[in-house]
Amino acid sequence: MDYDCIVIGGGHAGIEASLAVSRLGLNTLLITQNPDRIGALSCNPAVGGLSKGNLVREVDALGGAMAHLIDQTMIQYRILNKARGPAVQAPRAQADKNAYQCAARNIIENQRYLSVMMDTVTELIIDKDKNRSKDHEIYTMLGCVTGVITVRGHRISAKTVILAAGTFMEGKIFIGEYDALHGRLGEEAALGLGKFLRNNGFPVGRLKTGTPARIDGDSVDYSSMEKQDGEEFAPFSFDFESIPEKFINRKSVPCWICYTTAETHRIIRDNIHRSPLYGGKIKGTGARYCPSIEDKVVRFPDRNRHHVFIEPEGLYTTEKYLNGLSYEDDDVLAFHDISPQAPVHFLVIPKKHLANVMETKPEDAALLGKLLHKAQELLAEQGCAEKGGRFVINCKSDGMQTVEHIHLHVLGGRTLGWPPG
Ligand SMILES: Cc1cc2nc3c(=O)[nH]c(=O)nc-3n(C[C@H](O)[C@H](O)[C@H](O)COP(=O)(O)OP(=O)(O)OC[C@H]3O[C@@H](n4cnc5c(N)ncnc54)[C@H](O)[C@@H]3O)c2cc1C
Repeated sequence: MDYDCIVIGGGHAGIEASLAVSRLGLNTLLITQNPDRIGALSCNPAVGGLSKGNLVREVDALGGAMAHLIDQTMIQYRILNKARGPAVQAPRAQADKNAYQCAARNIIENQRYLSVMMDTVTELIIDKDKNRSKDHEIYTMLGCVTGVITVRGHRISAKTVILAAGTFMEGKIFIGEYDALHGRLGEEAALGLGKFLRNNGFPVGRLKTGTPARIDGDSVDYSSMEKQDGEEFAPFSFDFESIPEKFINRKSVPCWICYTTAETHRIIRDNIHRSPLYGGKIKGTGARYCPSIEDKVVRFPDRNRHHVFIEPEGLYTTEKYLNGLSYEDDDVLAFHDISPQAPVHFLVIPKKHLANVMETKPEDAALLGKLLHKAQELLAEQGCAEKGGRFVINCKSDGMQTVEHIHLHVLGGRTLGWPPG
């Protein structure tokens, strides 16, 4: 074996996974498309907020890195919902996005037993004869993952492979009427692995996410806006020993609050057909409820204004994030954009197909193994195999595949339902 563990993807999940494994003394390789983007904050450079603030602290209690990273790089700190009871209050910090990435890369590079490699994983190596447990049909049907193959042709073996591909697997970006394959704007989508997983019977689905435009802060008239200063800095991490030094001389940068107007809503309504979501180009559901401004204008027609927070992206940039103004068509609301808004579509293995240990569920995989077997039988029966026939496993569902209702379509042949009857 080349490594004990390979982690695919140097995003926030990949950072935590590779640190957790290597800290156990296991020889770990983090393979990521671009090491310069390790720990990149795709959307708002903020950590915490309702629910997520607690999550960050839970990750910290388990020894994770995120709370330390935001403590090192926050440029504004606030407790949300302060007017309400403690149960619904939440810490939220705005990060200097470049500093956050540097801190993330630093922690990875200084971790013992952890190496980083720049490449894109396109395939998993599956040993079909290797049975991890005789009890599970999955392992007899599908075998075990024993490594990865990359786009540059490297074949690397490992006892365990962790997939943390984030929004990059077959990622597609939509900017108004333009669309293209990207993970994030300006970064390549990770192509190959999604096709491999689909072809090997893993249940996959699509999710969507989105981000607003970033604007040049020097183009904003702050005089008509409400200033929102940060509070005294406080740490996310429970590592109390290093607190006193952490925030000395740290500069707190304000946010600014303004509102959409009736005229903004009129422009959005007049151009709603150009939105990729309302125009039907984007069909995936979001991982979390995060409505675009088009969505808010359509769903709440009685509201004549919506909040917009203008938030800093860092200490050494004038770039500002428009929180609350994520919109689907970049040309409709004409800003002095530094980067346009960008909804993204990407491939995932839906969480209902994952066991608590985050492995694909044995029962699902066993069923899929049976399906593959059935499909191969069907191909042979129809003589398609000799003719180079292929099969497609199509799952009945609205975007998310459910293994309970699978139909096999043999190209040019008949359709087989599974389970039978
Ligand atoms: C436009 C946009 C808006 C978003 N808005 C929000 C939001 O408002 N709130 C929120 O919580 N989240 C939002 N997200 C999601 C945000 O990306 C995630 O919360 C967070 O980044 C997930 O971290 P991750 O580690 O899972 O993946 P990512 O940060 O996406 O990192 C994945 C990494 O894996 C690498 N990778 C992927 N496949 C391969 C491969 N085959 N081989 C090698 N390397 C690979 C990629 O290059 C990337 O570095 C948004 C994402 C985008 C793109």
